Amino acid sequence: MDKLANFIGGEYIAPSNNLYIENIEPATGQAYGLIPDSDANDVELAVAAAKKAMPSWQAMPLEERSDVLYALAQEIEARIDELALAESIDNGKPLSLATSVDIPRAASNFKFFAHAANQFASESHAMATQAINYTLRQPLGIVGCISPWNLPLYLFTWKIAPALAAGNCVIAKPSEITPKTAAMLGEICQKVGLPNGVLNILHGRGSEVGNAICNHQDVKAISFTGGTATGAAIAKEVAPKFKKLSLELGGKNPALVFADCDLEKTVAELVRASFANQGQICLCASRLYIERSIYEQFKQAFVEQVKQLAVADPLTKDSNLGAIVSKAHFDKVLSYIALAKQEGGEILTGGHQVSLSERCENGYFIAPTVIEGLTNETRCNQEEVFGPMVTLQPFDSDEQAITLANDNQYGLAATIWTSNLNRAHHLAEQVNTGIVWVNCWLHRDLRTPFGGMNHSGVGREGGLEAMRFFTEPKNVCIKY
Ligand code: NAD
Repeated sequence: MDKLANFIGGEYIAPSNNLYIENIEPATGQAYGLIPDSDANDVELAVAAAKKAMPSWQAMPLEERSDVLYALAQEIEARIDELALAESIDNGKPLSLATSVDIPRAASNFKFFAHAANQFASESHAMATQAINYTLRQPLGIVGCISPWNLPLYLFTWKIAPALAAGNCVIAKPSEITPKTAAMLGEICQKVGLPNGVLNILHGRGSEVGNAICNHQDVKAISFTGGTATGAAIAKEVAPKFKKLSLELGGKNPALVFADCDLEKTVAELVRASFANQGQICLCASRLYIERSIYEQFKQAFVEQVKQLAVADPLTKDSNLGAIVSKAHFDKVLSYIALAKQEGGEILTGGHQVSLSERCENGYFIAPTVIEGLTNETRCNQEEVFGPMVTLQPFDSDEQAITLANDNQYGLAATIWTSNLNRAHHLAEQVNTGIVWVNCWLHRDLRTPFGGMNHSGVGREGGLEAMRFFTEPKNVCIKY
């Protein structure tokens, strides 16, 4: 059994209570490792290590801080095959996806914020009354970074990199469902010489160690990505303690497909947007609205392509969809497929679990599922499923399209498919999401603000937004 340890003060150590949780491989349904079931005592150790590390980390010249972050990126790149394999086994995602997207992006996160550390500049404001203001942007101190299971190392480093770049010490917790690559990050820190205690990685359950990180008085900010209900629970705990809080939460993302789109390209991109990572990306399209005049044509082409997707052992080359991350999540997705039928939906393809043989006979596989005939107010069109299931609905006008898109409590990402840029600009202005892609999906520029509105969260990550979040602005006014 692969037994993981916490990474505190630059060393791997067992949880203080010596308790462990099983780690299951979703493609086989078998336990293959043990994860520390850490608690508040381990948070105390991590806080002590971070406090010790803080003075010299904050005094380190920016160039050196930037160099060590860049070295982390290079070491991730050097271990891409090892990390991608670990990610695929731990999460169930196709190895090809982990190799081409997840791990390269984790390296890019460190590269990007290595540069940001050097280039982040503070503002100054001159006044007509012979005074000048300048704003210091000082590190917050110790910050907590808590991430989910869907893009494990990718989202873990998306928080850690800016927190470190801004000069903070970090206590980070990956999801207990996918802890493996986060645990491996400790070795990478040791290899490149990140000073001990600057990054501490704790494993365990959210309700235990996650809660203890959020509640520790010396943790000045929490950057959280995960479910909306968890975000609400954390906000309730943290708000009266006046910590900075960034919440990246769930989504129920609309795609608006107009008759004047490039149909072939739109269908191909929307198949990817719907089913990449088994539909377990917070940005995946889940409500597809199609202009009525091309509804049948789109439906036929879309369903045809979805039927071509191979649900297979994630470690095999031709696997398009791997396993759903856990038994609990697998049951949840299947329960929504059953609900869709009860709510009057017609399954156009998929709608069932997939049984594989040999190594994967007990794995959690679900066929990519396309459903039509559900109205917008059904639970299947209102609630986040976070799996390989999308719905199709026709619309008759731009006004109706935007009304349908906005008729939801979430507000993370929308896609608009049209060759009429005038329309795209108008709809982008009107759609209630933090991110809009026109004629593309998940085309990411790390400088841009990233995040959602309404039940999809509060605050933005990415570029300077992240550097601002992880620093305290202090204004100094000088009269001359
Ligand atoms: P989750 O909320 O169950 O868990 C996320 C993390 O929070 C885990 O590390 C968990 O251990 C921890 N946690 C749980 N309870 C906690 C508590 N009380 N205090 C502190 N930490 C706690 O989410 P999940 O199931 O791992 O992830 C799926 C969700 O994440 C989906 O809703 C998805 O939309 C969302 N997500 C959002 C984004 C985004 O950028 N907006 C990105 C990826 C995933």
